[in-house]
Amino acid sequence: MELDKMDENDWKYHGEGNKSLVVSHVQHPRVLRLLKYPAEDSENPPQTAEQAYRQIQNIVDFSSNVMSSLLGEKFIHSGEVVKLPLEFVRQLSIKVQHQRPAWRCDKVMDIYSGCALCLPNLTSPALHQPTHTPPLCIEIKPKCGFLPSPKHVSKDIKTKVCRYCMHQHYKVANGKWKRRSFYCPLDLFSGNRQRMHFAIKHLIEEPQNNFKVFKGGQCIYSSKEGSDESPDMNSLLHHLRPYFLHANNRMNCHVTCKAVLNDFIQVLVNALLSSGGGDGGVVADRQAEGRSFCEASIFNKERIRHGSRGLPTDSVLFRILQTQMLDTLDIEGLYPLYRQVEQHLQDFPKERTRLQIEGPYNEAFLEKLQKCPAEDDGSVEYAVAKVHQYRVAMTAKDCSIMVALVPSSEEEEDNENLSSQRQLRDFRPPAFSYSASILDLDPKPFDSIPRQLRLDQKIVTCYLRTGGALP
Ligand code: ATP
Ligand code: ZN
Ligand code: MG
Ligand code: MG
Repeated sequence: MELDKMDENDWKYHGEGNKSLVVSHVQHPRVLRLLKYPAEDSENPPQTAEQAYRQIQNIVDFSSNVMSSLLGEKFIHSGEVVKLPLEFVRQLSIKVQHQRPAWRCDKVMDIYSGCALCLPNLTSPALHQPTHTPPLCIEIKPKCGFLPSPKHVSKDIKTKVCRYCMHQHYKVANGKWKRRSFYCPLDLFSGNRQRMHFAIKHLIEEPQNNFKVFKGGQCIYSSKEGSDESPDMNSLLHHLRPYFLHANNRMNCHVTCKAVLNDFIQVLVNALLSSGGGDGGVVADRQAEGRSFCEASIFNKERIRHGSRGLPTDSVLFRILQTQMLDTLDIEGLYPLYRQVEQHLQDFPKERTRLQIEGPYNEAFLEKLQKCPAEDDGSVEYAVAKVHQYRVAMTAKDCSIMVALVPSSEEEEDNENLSSQRQLRDFRPPAFSYSASILDLDPKPFDSIPRQLRLDQKIVTCYLRTGGALP
């Protein structure tokens, strides 16, 4: 990429989250991720260009030095900071503005710093050859996959109903979404195929901001916030059908749609349980079986035909769950330690650097959180290690998985399918090669912790008042 010859016509709107806006190159498989900030501040940016550069460098460091070691290098692409011509950024911001969803426009794209994060485009994997069927990429934002331990929480309900399911009631009560999703992360992270299938089915039915499908790099399925309409499932099925034709020799169309959807979900479950390269991997038996069922999930436990075998230890879901579980104290148990650190920093401001509160996110930071004393010895080191662990867990609760499904090329299939096996083919799921990546690995700010506590209280109160009482 020649940074001095940037042309906005080579880039197009790709998507956005709460913190950043992403544009993709029209030819090369890469994206630029630009910062966003509140529209009220559009005239005077909240930080200088140097601070923006630092912030993005911190994201790269956090991803490559901390998260990559916890989640597994094979899943992570940290990218690099780039400095772009301001005129290019301004033109780009004008160009993409009309494609942005209205509900995201309370924030504006940063056009002042000229800094961005350059990443590989994970929705157009390089292994794809343009002449063949385009790859399908499925983005899942799984959220927190376990229940907190009863030791640290003040409300019993938190040990029975998962955070995501409680949060759904809060979001519907506050008008963020019109309908509640019946997706439950504990089902997805269970490692039990039936529960995972069930979870993904509900992600498809009510994707909110947890599920998107891309075909050949274009988003073909997602939710519109605050909208009454459900996303167009028929259109999704229309896109999926050619990929799952094998299963299509059935009589009536209704069954066929169902079959396509089932095959799609099954392939996705396989990809999520696969090792993402390398060998098979040991299956982790979940010791904490009691903490892996959510009472709000509408999955009927009696339907389980095979016991939960847990997740293979080298699967993307296992690695994410392990990292999420670094939150051992829950926000309620952590908050007093946060206050202790805060007090310490007030008394000794220079300690901020030594304790690496705002980074740098290097090996020493990782070591601080990994070498945490087992018991609270009252030291500030213990408190800081727990706060660092909590922040890392927060990032793992907020990241997304991108699963890329690349259809095996036709020649390959013809070669491997001798005529005797050909008939079997109709009963086999279609052949894909799959890979998984993890994206959105920004460090969560130290001072966001009090906000986390307040939000937690609001969600639990709301659930006890409204949701808990509903069937
Ligand atoms: P959130 O609100 O979830 O925290 P965010 O503002 O931090 O989101 P991202 O999730 O990193 O932003 O990016 C927004 C969207 O852009 C993603 O959901 C994804 O669809 C797309 N995206 C981000 N990075 C890539 C990438 N490397 N390749 C392809 N698409 C990407
Ligand atoms: Zn749940
Ligand atoms: Mg995101
Ligand atoms: Mg994010």
